[in-house]
Amino acid sequence: MTGQESPLFAANWKMFKGPRATEAFVESFVSRYRPREDRRIAFFPPSISLEAFVRASADRPDLEVGIQDVHQEVEGAHTGAVSASMAVEAGAKWALAGHSERRREFGDDDAIVAVKTARALEAGLRPIVCIGETLEEREAGLLQPVLERQVREVLAAVPAPGLTWAYEPVWAIGTGLTASPADAEEAHGIVRSAIGAAAGPVFADAAVVLYGGSVKPGNIGELMAASGVNGVLVGGASLDPESFAAICGVALPAG
Ligand code: PEP
Repeated sequence: MTGQESPLFAANWKMFKGPRATEAFVESFVSRYRPREDRRIAFFPPSISLEAFVRASADRPDLEVGIQDVHQEVEGAHTGAVSASMAVEAGAKWALAGHSERRREFGDDDAIVAVKTARALEAGLRPIVCIGETLEEREAGLLQPVLERQVREVLAAVPAPGLTWAYEPVWAIGTGLTASPADAEEAHGIVRSAIGAAAGPVFADAAVVLYGGSVKPGNIGELMAASGVNGVLVGGASLDPESFAAICGVALPAG
């Protein structure tokens, strides 16, 4: 496993769980998952539930929290949006940028994703840059050029070493379809090479690359054993405390 840090298990709750449901989740999750030194856990609740998560998990500093999206401006007349510094004030340490649902529903293109990544870093958040190909792109043989373009656009604008990336094949998000461990290895290899080509070997070695797409208790073991997979970003299966505790508790491959 490359990447310099302990594996990261990240939970993207999308538009599920308001503040009360968030408190109930934390109460149940902490009784099922004890802190472990060899892995990191981060939750991405809806922004309105961020502070509820922070309060409910106050005695569990191993459970970190992040925001699912930040606006590309620092502040201004952007109704409904949340800035990176507001997320920090609410207790966030992490920020997703470029999730495929943001790209599809809100038009976040590579240039906007790059600016959002920069805003997150400037505010002191750790961005997780989400990239991945659609089914049409994969079937057209475009896996490599799509990943290379997505990586290059961000690194050209934000030449920061040690970024966290999430390779999430769009066809595997919320569909029940999972990339095979061989597919994940291939794509993670492409991502790391693209980082090296865009910014050099130091960046490639320091990058953390997560896998996301229908991860569940039944497939977490084989995905974490895939070469180059430094952790996972989990959507649907992270909404249930028992299922996400099982994912986070997986036995890690030796070495
Ligand atoms: C996600 O939302 O990033 C995700 C990977 O979702 P799911 O696990 O439901 O496919």
